[in-house]
Amino acid sequence: MPCPEVSFFKEVATTIEHANKYLNLPKSVIDRLTTPRRSLIVSVPVKMDDGRIEFFKGYRVQYDFARGPAKGGIRYHPRVNLDEITALAALMTLKCAVVDIPFGGAKGGVECDPTVMSRDEIERLTRRYAYEIAILIGPETDIPAPDVYTDEQIMAWVMDTYSMMKGYPVPGIVTGKPVSLGGSLGRTKATSAGLVTTVLETLKHLNIPLEGLTVTVLGFGKVGYHAARILHDKGARVIGLADSKGAIYNPQGLDIDAVSLHKNTTGALSGFKESEDLSVNELLTIECDCLIPAALEGQINAKNVGGIKTRIMAEGANNPATLEADRVLKEKGVFLLPGVLANAGGVVVSYFEWVQDLQRFFWNESEIDTRLQSIMKKAFKEVLDISLEKQVDMRTAATVLGVKRVAEAVMIRGLYP
Ligand code: GLU
Repeated sequence: MPCPEVSFFKEVATTIEHANKYLNLPKSVIDRLTTPRRSLIVSVPVKMDDGRIEFFKGYRVQYDFARGPAKGGIRYHPRVNLDEITALAALMTLKCAVVDIPFGGAKGGVECDPTVMSRDEIERLTRRYAYEIAILIGPETDIPAPDVYTDEQIMAWVMDTYSMMKGYPVPGIVTGKPVSLGGSLGRTKATSAGLVTTVLETLKHLNIPLEGLTVTVLGFGKVGYHAARILHDKGARVIGLADSKGAIYNPQGLDIDAVSLHKNTTGALSGFKESEDLSVNELLTIECDCLIPAALEGQINAKNVGGIKTRIMAEGANNPATLEADRVLKEKGVFLLPGVLANAGGVVVSYFEWVQDLQRFFWNESEIDTRLQSIMKKAFKEVLDISLEKQVDMRTAATVLGVKRVAEAVMIRGLYP
């Protein structure tokens, strides 16, 4: 299914151009920052369980290398297309710069519906896709990781395929692997842990207590589940949860582990006994202190933004709000934590994983948590300082910071040849 009405990449490019109002960089630098470096489109033939051969379309976009090897996840979704992957690769470039880790940005994906494929079919798809993009990726050039509908096992298959091609194990080829293959402790919950750190910093800044904070989370995948669970454990009240099929609501707060058990046994959130079933758009109209969109881009859009009543929106997903929705949220005075800051914890721990793999020396979980928190707090403060100094919203401030860092590397390196 090709992408909706608006080009996601154009929206990201517009955000970058807008940030330049506060930077005044030369046009050639902004042109470079709004142009992907390399895009690979591959055909991925897969033998399905019934013996048919199906062809899937796969992508890997290496957006920028100015600050280091390209870095970014691989997603499996029916909506995957070149525009989306390019936009996400551009956002990875900014995200790595905002949290100041030495990577450029990349993204990959395969247009497929993993929810209707068997595990064996997904393994064959992954291995062939990894083989096709092996001409571009490598531990020194471009390091994939999990994203929507991809997990540790899929990363293990990528690592195995690449290692078999080389003839020796290459753990640093992907991050988000199982710990037994050189994965990092704390990686699975890293995006959510980082997101919660930025929410807690926001609460301090806005003087809002955490105890009893009402939270709504859209999306109950890795990011949404762990964010809800960590906030619940810290004393917040998660009153609403949504997945792609529907939403549940309980003003007294939901028991996240019980909800997760229900979803694992029934396949959906709806029908959870200690809550009321709602549509996702109905849930969005219910007042909360903090809204966490943690599914796909564009989930907050012109159609549903009008009903939103929240004080803070923390983006677990990459660009869950369209530019139009963003404008309305700004008018409503919502404090926005943009994805390039709020969900950067995943790639930060990916960076730790890559460093550990290259050194063959592994850290304990408390070292990882402490370093993650310190990077997230520093990035939050730097973005907030720009936002206060320039009197701009946090998305513009984060983009200003990211663009400034990438542009600096571009200009110091100069043009080859
Ligand atoms: N897919 C995650 C993201 O969008 C993580 C990427 C990575 O660790 O490379 O940030």
